[in-house]
Formats: sequence, C-alpha cells, structure tokens
Amino acid sequence: MGGPVRTEVQAYATGLYRRRSGDPMQYLPEEAAGYVAEGFRAVKLKVGFGIAEDAAVTRAVREAIGPDIGLMVDANHAYDAVAAIKLGRLIESFDIGWFEEPVPPEDLAGHKAVKAALTIPVASGECEFTRFGFREVLVQGAMDIIQPDTCSAGGLSECKKIADMAAAFGVRYNPHCWGTGIGLAAALQLMGVLPTHTPTSLAPAQPIFEFDRTEHPIRQAILQEPIEHFRGIVRIPTGPGLGIEIDRDALTRFKAG
Ligand SMILES: [Mg+2]
Repeated sequence: MGGPVRTEVQAYATGLYRRRSGDPMQYLPEEAAGYVAEGFRAVKLKVGFGIAEDAAVTRAVREAIGPDIGLMVDANHAYDAVAAIKLGRLIESFDIGWFEEPVPPEDLAGHKAVKAALTIPVASGECEFTRFGFREVLVQGAMDIIQPDTCSAGGLSECKKIADMAAAFGVRYNPHCWGTGIGLAAALQLMGVLPTHTPTSLAPAQPIFEFDRTEHPIRQAILQEPIEHFRGIVRIPTGPGLGIEIDRDALTRFKAG
C-alpha cells in the first residue's frame, strides 16, 4: 500500500436517523450531544425529510453540539439540485462540514450545480465504483470530497488508485464505511495511506473515519477484537492483512440456512 502515513484516525459518529416514534427535534439533538459526550468531535445527520424540517433539525443539532464539533449532513440522494440548493442555503450558516449525496448518484450535473451554488463542500460517491467510475466524477469536477466504499468500489488496490487520482485532481477522499467489522478494518488500512488534505475550517486535514453508531448485531461480533474508538479516535490495526481476526464461532452463529 506504500507505507503508513498515520497510525490512528479521527472518527465521526454516523447515526441521527429518524425513529418510528418521538419528536426528531428532541431526540436528534439529544443523540448528537451523546456522541459528543462520548468524545466524538464530529457527527453526521441524516436529512432528506423536507427542506423546512431538515433546516430546523440541523439548527437544533448544531445548537446541541456547540460550534466546535464537526457537523455533516447526508441526504442519501433525497433531493434534486433545486431542492438541495435551497436546503443548503438555509443551513450554510451552521458551518456544515459537507453535504453528502444531495442528489442522485447518476446526476453529475446536479452535483456540479449544488457544488457551484453553495459554500458547503459536496461529498458523494458511495454509489460509484472503480477508477473508471470515479474518473468521470473527477474530470467533471462534480464533488469536493469523494467517498468510495472500500468494499464495493473495487477493494483496497482499486481504492488506492482512486485515491491517487483524487489527489491529482485536488479532491478530498473520505471513505464511506458500512457493514461489518471487516469493512471497517479494510477502510482503516486504506486510511493509513491516504494523503493529508489541505486544512480548512470546514473539514479536518486528515481523512476522517465514518463510524456507524446504529445497532448492528453482526458488525463487531464477528471480530475477535472489536474495532473501537477512544474519545473519537480509532487506532489503525497493525496485524497482518487487515489486522483483524475473525471469530469463526460467531460466523457460524450468524450463518443463514
Ligand atoms: Mg451516505
């Protein structure tokens, strides 16, 4: 992979999903404040539930976590460019680290329109694959931050190639991380070799690790040693391979059929 440039990464808490019941204006700020109390220095909020409500919830979460904690929003392509720009203008003043998947992944022109209209960096790419897919994204200048998923965009070697291309285009790279501890471990290994970004007030200079905080019975259970954070920092495993050992008994337990 080229040798490590860092031994640990800052993590951000992904969570802040809508629940079946309760008032999001109450439970989302509470949940966000909980992540900050755990030591996370950045959190990501799901938006895409209507522009006015998204703006109100974003404000409430920002007020709950204070000005010094990173806050990103993720629409999971809920909007078109017109709506995403409208929402972006309403939340720009809340110092948003990035606006993730504002529009559908296929709509590169829409990404470009949102990127041109807002001061919030546009992040996207969890639904894009291989260096050939990302070549178009980079040539078009469609995103400020690309987020290939290490497990689905082509694996470690392919993602390293994508990362090198992004660096040449001056585009930030922050992996999308989802699923089991194997995926988390793969992303961490890649993050060990990603270049340092140009520092800005909006985003940390080092790539930041997406740490899903939602309940997932398999995620950590299949690892002999779970990947954990300490005050929002995750150490990159140094063992052979991905640096993890699989708990074979747990695999058997989770086997379907
Ligand atoms: Mg996302």
